[in-house]
Amino acid sequence: MKKKIWLLVLAAVVVIAGGISWWASRQYVVPIMMYHHVADVSPKRSDTVSPERFHWHMTYLKKHHFNVLPLRTLVQIIKQGKPLPRKSVVITFDDGYEDNYTQAFPVLKKYGFPATIFVISDVVNTKGFLTTEQMREMYAGGIDIGSHTRAHPYLPDVSSERRREEIFGSKARLEQETGIKVSSFAYPSGGFDEEIKKLAKEAGYDSACTTNRGYDRFNRDVYELKRIRFSDQDDRADYLWMKLGGFYNLFRKVKVPSGPSEYQVK
Ligand SMILES: [Zn+2]
Repeated sequence: MKKKIWLLVLAAVVVIAGGISWWASRQYVVPIMMYHHVADVSPKRSDTVSPERFHWHMTYLKKHHFNVLPLRTLVQIIKQGKPLPRKSVVITFDDGYEDNYTQAFPVLKKYGFPATIFVISDVVNTKGFLTTEQMREMYAGGIDIGSHTRAHPYLPDVSSERRREEIFGSKARLEQETGIKVSSFAYPSGGFDEEIKKLAKEAGYDSACTTNRGYDRFNRDVYELKRIRFSDQDDRADYLWMKLGGFYNLFRKVKVPSGPSEYQVK
């Protein structure tokens, strides 16, 4: 009799554990890393990672055998409804700073990691930002160029005409100048609403990234892909483990898509 009860308990444990692991596997999201500047600055800023720290992050990915996917590959997998490959990660940069070429690109090249840089089209070829040549060279080396609008306005705060110009105009200018097909977009400071998403789709982008804004914790909508910010503060292996495990969004506060903006390009 006693043996029977124990067998029943064991069976229940197996069923519950199986259920939990099935449920957990359904919550997995491929983490999309978000960087801005790769530079040494003092005091430290949340939009900046030092070249040493960036190198350490990339070495962590290599050492732990992460599968670094191009953003467009992840987007295809999501669109086709295929299972997400575990232990994967996507690398992105916002604003198109020149240090992405001088500091980040050599490291990405060394490890053979793809990435996407979201460029502000009006500041290309100006001081501190990427040049057309640098973008072409990086593209040939596996780095995709996405758009981050013309002038980085917080889109929820501007008129429909301006939104359209920022979303369509930046794509046209970047493609014309570089000859590179620009198929991804990132909302400045992550701000978007339904009209902005629709414009991004209409302009011909395959996907659009936000920051931590939006209600889609599982990145099922490719026009509001949540990303995870990385900076100098990520200086411990357990932080990286937590942020790159694929379940980080579950523990983050949901942020209004078009709430007040706090980030300005400097
Ligand atoms: Zn930005």
